[in-house]
Amino acid sequence: MSHPVYPNLFSPIDLGFTQLKNRVLMGSMHTGLEEADNGFERMAAYFSERARGGVGMIITGGIAPNLEATTSGAHLVSRSQARQHKEVTDAVHDVDADIKICMQILHQGALSKNENLVAPSAVKSRISRMTPNALDEAGIQKQLDDFVNCAQMAKLAGYDGVEVIGSAGYLLSTFLVKKTNLREDQWGGSYENRMRFPLEVIKRIRAAVGEHFILIFRISAMDMLDDGMSWDEVVRLAKEMEKAGVTIISTHFCWHEARVPTVATMVPRAAFAGVTGRLRKELSVPVITSNRINTPEVAEQVLRDGDADLISMARPMLADPEFVVKAFEGRENEINTCIACNQACLDHTFGRKQGVTCLVNPRACHETLLKYSPAAQSKHIAVIGAGPAGLAYCTVASQRGHQVTLYDGAAQIGGQFNLAKRIPGKEEFYETLRYYDTMLKLGNVEVHLNTWVDKALLENKSFDEIIIATGISPRIPDIVGINHPKVLSYLDVIEGAVEVGKRVAIIGAGGIGFDVAELISHKGISPAMDKEVFAREWGIDFENHPRGGVTGVQPIFERAEREIYLLQRKDSPVGRGLGLTTGWAHRISLIKRDVKMLNAVTYQHIDDHGLHILVNNDAHLLEVDTVIICAGQKSNRSLFDELESAGLNVKLAGGAFRAAELDAKAAINQASYLAAAV
Ligand code: FAD
Ligand code: NAP
Ligand code: SF4
Repeated sequence: MSHPVYPNLFSPIDLGFTQLKNRVLMGSMHTGLEEADNGFERMAAYFSERARGGVGMIITGGIAPNLEATTSGAHLVSRSQARQHKEVTDAVHDVDADIKICMQILHQGALSKNENLVAPSAVKSRISRMTPNALDEAGIQKQLDDFVNCAQMAKLAGYDGVEVIGSAGYLLSTFLVKKTNLREDQWGGSYENRMRFPLEVIKRIRAAVGEHFILIFRISAMDMLDDGMSWDEVVRLAKEMEKAGVTIISTHFCWHEARVPTVATMVPRAAFAGVTGRLRKELSVPVITSNRINTPEVAEQVLRDGDADLISMARPMLADPEFVVKAFEGRENEINTCIACNQACLDHTFGRKQGVTCLVNPRACHETLLKYSPAAQSKHIAVIGAGPAGLAYCTVASQRGHQVTLYDGAAQIGGQFNLAKRIPGKEEFYETLRYYDTMLKLGNVEVHLNTWVDKALLENKSFDEIIIATGISPRIPDIVGINHPKVLSYLDVIEGAVEVGKRVAIIGAGGIGFDVAELISHKGISPAMDKEVFAREWGIDFENHPRGGVTGVQPIFERAEREIYLLQRKDSPVGRGLGLTTGWAHRISLIKRDVKMLNAVTYQHIDDHGLHILVNNDAHLLEVDTVIICAGQKSNRSLFDELESAGLNVKLAGGAFRAAELDAKAAINQASYLAAAV
């Protein structure tokens, strides 16, 4: 019987020799578990939790076919390594033998941070420091053998199939594009020759693994490169792949080096599904689409529109392992939605500093380390502050069986997230507030809004624990004239409580300074809410699909109606501290709107004429009528200090605990660990 709300999402799909039980697949994401201590045990826990959550098929993070192909070191070449992977495949199949798990074979080619990196030609990527070694004929044959061996080992390890990534600027895609393939032998030159290597990989894998093994090819359906692949070339490759024996084609958008955001929060939901839909019409094998599909409603709509056979969601599965089962049971309000911030997933992967997790779900990839077990004894807990930290605490503590009472002085839950959600391009933040609102109700949390808490309010109550999650207050810098009427706080500006002039200086170019600049420079509808605006701003021609989707298309950003200066004291480039995988897009969008960014600024004073500054010791007057302060924050700890000295059992969470380097990722993470331990 078909599902009443999501008939497409929850219909099985026949792959000829096997079936997938639904249309949701967990897309490949490198998590760092692949090479972590106890990595296989942690991966088994991570994937099996998603299997229990009802996903139809899982694609692992990328595993290299040899050592020159990898940055992280994760590779699969031997039987002993295959035995280690078996822990992962067994864990998933033990949950449900019908759930498929495929291993992604990732050869990073010119993007491998490895001194033996190889590519079709010695062409350095714009985003790499190293020039690859051009493969000779023997080298090419070795790479082909290694792909085949890797796929065979994956089969031995119990995987149901493999996905070969042929996109993003990794090895296979660099054969396809002229600028990275300068060869004149049978592997370069004409398009037929440039297709030869990827096709040979697929043909040889198919011959080695037999018919009954899922083989997915991930194609750059729109590579976003100037002079990238034409639409005809994309279609031709996909058709040849079909003939070569792929089971499924998965569409991918963008090379990593391209200057178009394809997964960040300013990208509209399902923005690229139409491209997949066009390709699907040309093929007979099932086609997967991906990118910014983060709700069951959107996924169902894409399938209903005939744009894809399967929906790949990677980050949404980090955010909520139970996404699928919640949708199936009509519990959509309980889905912890991926807000496409990249802060704890892709920024960690590409920064290679910390393991991957998720801003809204710190358990992601930490399933064996952060456990929300039922509490041994139910306690009465008061939480003061309904910002992200307080909300995360309430959710975890109530889920574990504690009786929680939440207070906030504001009229709504959310704390500073109520400001974040107003920024054009950050509309997804509404979803987090919707999720927490649902969780408070489910956890029977007693909520008191419009209630400013002081010592007197708590003294006569008998709480076992009091959590102070009172957050942060804006820092007021010590500048002469800071009390001038033209000086505004970001709080009032974002709330729309004050008039902002035509000429504006923003003091502080951190995340909030950038967001304020975005807000006050923006005209019209947010790109995240309108595919045409998004396409216009980033120069994408979805209709005609010129080479790469972007060749010859001029990005058009509406100029700001204000003259805006974004200032910082540091002499580093403005915006350097923003997220690794999204900061560049924020910078570009402000520069295109003519926001002037100044570093190495010393603030002298503010008066009727404007803001007086020194830049590299030269005096300047910025003749502005508004100065907005975005100079960081300090913790709100006075209530904690008062209660602690009164001998109450108090603990700090979120910004109240630590304001330095605070963001919602840190606030939710710290509060969740605290609530897991109570
Ligand atoms: P807060 O959010 O400050 O919440 C504290 C709560 O306590 C408030 O609701 C307040 O009313 C309440 N409170 C305080 N004192 C009392 C009292 N005595 N009695 C009762 N209630 C009290 N972070 C990111 O990670 N990514 C982003 O993209 C991002 N974007 C942002 C954009 C903007 C415009 C802003 C302003 C912030 C952004 N942040 C972002 C930062 C993020 O919102 C904060 O780090 C986070 O909200 C801190 O959470 P918190 O719970 O510690 O504090
Ligand atoms: P922030 O990122 O720490 O930036 C504060 C800015 O103020 C810096 O530019 C700093 O640069 C300046 N500053 C600090 N002290 C100052 C002083 N005394 N006088 C003048 N300028 C001073 O903090 P934020 O912008 O308030 O953001 C708060 C948190 O929210 C951050 O962790 C941020 O990452 C997070 N957030 C994230 C995003 C996102 O998109 N990921 C968006 C918004 C907010 P100089 O010292 O060089 O002047
Ligand atoms: Fe989504 Fe942000 Fe979590 Fe990554 S960190 S999965 S982008 S919510």
